[in-house]
Amino acid sequence: MIVGVLVEITNRSVDRIFEYIVPKEFESRIQIGIRVLVPFGRMTLEGFVLEIKNEKSTDKDLREVLEIVDSYAVLDDELLELGKKMRDMTLSTLISCYQVMLPKALKVKAKNKESSILYDTYYSLREDISLNTFSGKQREILELIVNRGKVLRKELVNISSSSLNTLLKKELLKEEKIEHFRVSYDSTLIEKKTLTEEQRNVVSLVTHNSFDKYLLYGVTGSGKTEVYMEIIDYYLSLGKTSIVLVPEISLTPQIIERFQKRFGNKIAALHSGLSDGEKYDEYRRILNGDVSIVIGARSAIFAPLKNIGVIIIDEEHSDSYKQSDPSPRYHARDIAFLRGEWHHATVLMGSATPSLESMARGLKGVYTYLELPHRVNGKNLPFVHIVDMNVEIRNRRETFSKELVDLIQDRLEKKEQIILLLNRRGYSSFITCNHCGYTFKCPNCDISLTYHKTSHTLRCHYCGYGEKVYQNCPKCGDKTLNSFGMGTEKVEEELSKLFPNSRVLRMDYDTTSRKGKHEEMISSFQKHQYDILLGTQMVAKGLDFPQVTLVGVINADTSLNIPDFRSSENTFSLLSQVAGRSGRSEKVGEVVIQTFNPDHYAISCSKNHDYFSFYKQEMFLRKQLNYPPFYYLCNIRISGKDSSYIELEASKIKKSLEKNLLNVTILGPSSAGIFKMNNIYRYHILLKYKDVNYVLPVLERMIEHYKLISKIKIDIDFNPSQIL
Ligand code: ADP
Ligand code: ZN
Repeated sequence: MIVGVLVEITNRSVDRIFEYIVPKEFESRIQIGIRVLVPFGRMTLEGFVLEIKNEKSTDKDLREVLEIVDSYAVLDDELLELGKKMRDMTLSTLISCYQVMLPKALKVKAKNKESSILYDTYYSLREDISLNTFSGKQREILELIVNRGKVLRKELVNISSSSLNTLLKKELLKEEKIEHFRVSYDSTLIEKKTLTEEQRNVVSLVTHNSFDKYLLYGVTGSGKTEVYMEIIDYYLSLGKTSIVLVPEISLTPQIIERFQKRFGNKIAALHSGLSDGEKYDEYRRILNGDVSIVIGARSAIFAPLKNIGVIIIDEEHSDSYKQSDPSPRYHARDIAFLRGEWHHATVLMGSATPSLESMARGLKGVYTYLELPHRVNGKNLPFVHIVDMNVEIRNRRETFSKELVDLIQDRLEKKEQIILLLNRRGYSSFITCNHCGYTFKCPNCDISLTYHKTSHTLRCHYCGYGEKVYQNCPKCGDKTLNSFGMGTEKVEEELSKLFPNSRVLRMDYDTTSRKGKHEEMISSFQKHQYDILLGTQMVAKGLDFPQVTLVGVINADTSLNIPDFRSSENTFSLLSQVAGRSGRSEKVGEVVIQTFNPDHYAISCSKNHDYFSFYKQEMFLRKQLNYPPFYYLCNIRISGKDSSYIELEASKIKKSLEKNLLNVTILGPSSAGIFKMNNIYRYHILLKYKDVNYVLPVLERMIEHYKLISKIKIDIDFNPSQIL
């Protein structure tokens, strides 16, 4: 027997099948989709069995398979097929597509896998016995087993370990080892909520047709999650399974708990809070078919479920669904469509702020458009105050405006809770005026210019435009141009000066890095052990605290200034999400947004929760500048150690693309936003095009051309979520 194996090296030059001989003793355990260990050069590597055959296809001598890793196929026909489609779509290696489907905990190297399985020992009777012939502890043990059929060893040892041993010696008992799973959920049966009429309509439309794509626009607090659960229930009743994707950041205990309460042990939750062992267990529960619903972040889209009925993508606009690095640079939405086709499953995307791409498709009918325009509690969305920081700063208020201070005071007196969002800065250094908030923008691309320290210039990393750094702000003449933002610590300090008696909980990447910390913080805020929750983007999404009646955004502009064509969209969406945390229960909520750009439509539209007015204005701009959804983007990154060689090759690539791609806009090569990273220089070329099938073969040829040249690395990112 010969097998074709794809080995685990993510290098294009070996991304193909290698043949090996299967030793006789392994033959019965060989299957397509299992992993084996094979010799490769001087290494021993893990690889996937993709072919089984009788004859080798070369004259060369073949080497032997060393070991079999899995006792079952970790990739079934569907996932094997999916990997090939992913490779073609993303122009990445096939092996990287398969690797991304499996949790790291499953890797041989990650841990000695078999030893990480825990077993419980159970005893049952070998054959019928007459209890009367036994007495004392032995009889007690046997009675328990007769009553229950199968009893955990621990319980019997508790009665008497010596009597148990005697019974075992008499060979009366059968021993069974059953896998013990570290994660387990109690299904607390709860009363289902009676859906509102709007919710019912959505559920009945979605369950009416299978195999369709839906976009659900539902304002924050409109009961989307409730709708998802009802749809999942429907598919459960048909014996079908479901995948629910949520952004990692909103994959909080709150949402998992809601699903567990309703579906108990039928759920597997895959999130970063689990240890490797726990992840591994959850994965095996899915493979064993013990699970009907998988909830998780991006990579949960690869959950090895059979017979999928529905795939739900909550907060579908979230850029966490796009894997940027490393390759394969896939979008979970595209994978959902492929899996949907395979299973004839429904794909439902929901959001309070759908991405422009999805809304455009929803309105065109490419997806079936659904909406939940009202909150379930019948309450209005919270009242939003926009505070112009240009005015505040003249009164020496830099961090907290008068309005926000007054409202915080009011809530503290009423014993209600407050969320404060400190908008995290992006990766790159754009320059703003400390006084008036002015930011330098590219005249061609309408994105912020990035400060380059080495050359002391401002550059556009889309098109390469550059200008020198000014000494004074061109708008207000002030000399306080800077590239610093506020940190949460500074805000926390000021907060404690202003409100010395308030209890402030700071939540950011520093304070939540320890395992379980995030959960702990959410639960203590929920129990009202704190008055104010201050944090970065992670306080904006998915949380449901009924006592929160005030949300403050300290610096709305930061995300607006990030050098990305989506910065307005991301800002509008962030503001809408965080505003949605206020007034979710009986009490009416309020929101304060502090900004230097009160007239910017991303800000002013969020005052009235006016998604569609934002959508119209943003679409108008996108059309003028040939951005998505009117054009597709593709980012080609060219990197290497030798900067002059890379620069030269980058311009050669551009020339050759120009020759081969007519009617495609080709920008660059320009130095990337982060030009030098670990001594690797990075250039990129940006394509704007209408038809991916026209672009794909040209790019594929280019990759082929460079694949054996080690001095240069080419990375392709279709529909990039960020262009770094
Ligand atoms: P979304 O996901 O759209 O933000 P949720 O599903 O979280 O909305 O619902 C908001 C709140 O309203 C939650 O506390 C939820 O339990 C509650 N809720 C949802 N649907 C109903 C309903 N039909 N009846 C009563 N309460 C509901
Ligand atoms: Zn530009």
